[in-house]
Amino acid sequence: MNVTELARRLKMTTSELLAKLPELGFDIGKRAIKVSPDLVDKIISAIEADRKKSSASAVAQAVTEIKLSDKNGSAEPKKEFTKIIKIPEVIIVKDFAEKLGLSVVKVIGELMKNGIMTSLNERIDLSTATIIGEDLGFKVEAMSEDEVAGAQVEVSDQKLKEVLKNIKSENAIIRPPVVVVMGHVDHGKTKLLDAIRETNIIDQESGGITQAIGAYQAQTHGQLITFLDTPGHEAFKSMRSRGSKIADVAIIVVAADDGLKPQTMEVIDLVQKEQLPFVIAINKIDKEGADIDRVKKELSEINLIPEDWGGKTICVPISAKEKKGLNELLDMVLLVADMEDLKSDPTVRAIGTIIEAHVDKGEGPVATVLIQAGTLRPGDLIVAGQVAGKIRLLRNFKGEDAQEALPSMPVKILGLREVPRVGDILEVTDDKKMVKELLKKASYKKEAHARFVQNSAVKEEEGAVVPTLNLIIKADVLGSQEAIEESLSRFVDPEVKVKVIKKGLGNVTDADVLAAQAGLAIIVAFKVKNFPGVEELARDKKVELKYYEIIYKLLEDVEERLKTLLKPEVIRTELGQIQILAIFRTEKNSMIAGGKILTGVIKPKTKAKVIRAGEFITMGDLTELRAGKQIVNEAHAGEECGFKFIGEPIIKEHDVLEVYQEEIKERQLQVKHS
Ligand code: GDP
Repeated sequence: MNVTELARRLKMTTSELLAKLPELGFDIGKRAIKVSPDLVDKIISAIEADRKKSSASAVAQAVTEIKLSDKNGSAEPKKEFTKIIKIPEVIIVKDFAEKLGLSVVKVIGELMKNGIMTSLNERIDLSTATIIGEDLGFKVEAMSEDEVAGAQVEVSDQKLKEVLKNIKSENAIIRPPVVVVMGHVDHGKTKLLDAIRETNIIDQESGGITQAIGAYQAQTHGQLITFLDTPGHEAFKSMRSRGSKIADVAIIVVAADDGLKPQTMEVIDLVQKEQLPFVIAINKIDKEGADIDRVKKELSEINLIPEDWGGKTICVPISAKEKKGLNELLDMVLLVADMEDLKSDPTVRAIGTIIEAHVDKGEGPVATVLIQAGTLRPGDLIVAGQVAGKIRLLRNFKGEDAQEALPSMPVKILGLREVPRVGDILEVTDDKKMVKELLKKASYKKEAHARFVQNSAVKEEEGAVVPTLNLIIKADVLGSQEAIEESLSRFVDPEVKVKVIKKGLGNVTDADVLAAQAGLAIIVAFKVKNFPGVEELARDKKVELKYYEIIYKLLEDVEERLKTLLKPEVIRTELGQIQILAIFRTEKNSMIAGGKILTGVIKPKTKAKVIRAGEFITMGDLTELRAGKQIVNEAHAGEECGFKFIGEPIIKEHDVLEVYQEEIKERQLQVKHS
């Protein structure tokens, strides 16, 4: 707890408290800002005793009041505030002053009065800011997670725009265009993306299947084009509104047998508003009833005169099904892109936009980032919205490890502590302090989560153990509380349960946190806030505290958490065994080795248990598989093969690898929709 907060609770100034503490035998230093949680109660008792001794009954009364107010949260002193401001959990002094509309000097002065020595670039936490703010006549409130994210997006968005604007010409390289495919439903967007993926990706044979990471890169005439492979303009729209423009060219798909439809019009409207260059792909020309001229006529009617009719709109007839006209389409995309100045600087700190993110059962939080400037590399410290991490591994859309990601390249990243939001700006940073703070926050959340996952299995009456999510509900009014409880009844899955262990109206109190700790519960606060110090207590006690303004957000969160409690189904298939004959290369986390297949059929992208003299040694992943120099997709018993093993590099000759495939099937949560 902050010294200022404690002083306030004790109704004395920080300097009085700091002066008093040594007298009472506490040695926390003259300039201390924080008091460790285990000292808080001791200090309160000691000061109370001291006050009793000096029979300052009025002050003792105050202490009792504070304690009471902690318990039932009702005795907060009423203050007159000129203005309410909202800030995140941590704020830089300079930014805080700006929010208050006061000079930095005044704010630093006020901090000094409270015994806190800071400079304008130092960070203060919410409770400090609340107290200082109150002394200055402001009511300071915590931003909700959404508000923090929103503010972050604004800042990052601005930064991204600046980086992109200030590209130095001497370092600039031409980057591949980023293409988004849009159009009316069923006109063939997905089919087109698949067709290009199947025909225009180099190295098809080595990579095998491409990975669904939200984007891929195709090639035509030796030039790369990046495709965002979420079809539909909703995704595009949300990204546009959150980050800066990420697509350079749009392909608008129109089915030749259907013509311009409402969503086509919407998309045309959108790209024109965004001033996004586009190409019209007139699809399904193989179909009976296809009428290219009709589409062109309809386009002309809305003032998009096709080129061959004397206008400027580029139209390319294609058949995604028969893979016809695809090269012509890509040529046109490049032509349009050539007219844009698609340059970027790969030498700056990498910055890009998150285009896909989820939790992978095996790999944890993974995300795909589209790099917009700079070069991203393993080992880089990164921040994406409210999430931080260090790049552990980069993978391209073919699932191969990548050593770097250049502008316009989509790359899957491992190493984030949590899942960022789609549309968040990802930046490489050297602000270790900020990364550390964000990581601390994440690990606290994770610990809190892990605790209830581990411990929340409760015995049901019939003796079966069902993982349970325990909740404490705090709501603003009885109506909300009942509505929340009522809607929780939609979670009917027999394998996971929600249990409300405590509920009540009004702000979250210390007592709620302690009940949550004892009951292994999460606190969900609906349209209420917390009393001062409660968040800190929650952090100390590793209790998760979530605030909501909308019921369905709360339900969404509960649903997500219940899903994590569902045990995934793992389907394991044994493939065969390899006896190691030679080790070719040993690296930090991988090896290249060769051996003879004793039994079965071996495939790449599988898992292997290493067995030595009948004993399990380690396990890892088999990535590449080769027969001679050739990369292959399978090798059979009796044959020799080479492979890459990712894992502890301790394989030796004569070891046997038991190779198997693991498919993790996500289970669906049963929910009753009313
Ligand atoms: P989306 O909703 O725009 O993503 O459309 P889809 O790609 O899912 O395609 C809708 C339907 O049209 C599917 O049944 C496709 O097989 C079919 N389709 C797409 N392109 C073509 C094409 O060029 N020719 C024909 N005959 N059918 C196509």
